[in-house]
Amino acid sequence: MTFEYDDQNIFAKILRGEIPNQTIYENDHALAFNDINPQAPVHVLVIPKGAYVSLDHFARDASPAEQVGFMQAVAEVCRLTDVDQGFRAIANARSHGVQDVPHYHLHIIGGRQLGRMLQG
Ligand code: 5GP
Repeated sequence: MTFEYDDQNIFAKILRGEIPNQTIYENDHALAFNDINPQAPVHVLVIPKGAYVSLDHFARDASPAEQVGFMQAVAEVCRLTDVDQGFRAIANARSHGVQDVPHYHLHIIGGRQLGRMLQG
């Protein structure tokens, strides 16, 4: 599998500061910010700062430090958003996964009772 990163995608622009975001948490390797179209009271996107297209790209090619930094950001988002009653983490990938933005992002969704996953 070859991953081709488009540096004009919207999250690349957010990382470069060209588009504003509501930051929840940031470290050396990851940025977490509110989704612009939230599906629940908590809907945060966690993205790596590196140029990775999708979860499988990140899992294959990101360094251990990047992977640890990303997961630390996930932990901080869960703590800061107080999702003690639970949440869902979703990583859409490519066309079958209906991924709209081609920069890897993990949706953290919670703050209400969610339905069972996979409508389609
Ligand atoms: P995907 O379908 O790629 O998994 O999800 C992309 C997500 O990015 C969507 O939930 C969408 O609402 C969100 N999104 C798209 N553009 C922007 C933006 O400019 N700012 C923020 N904060 N979220 C965005």
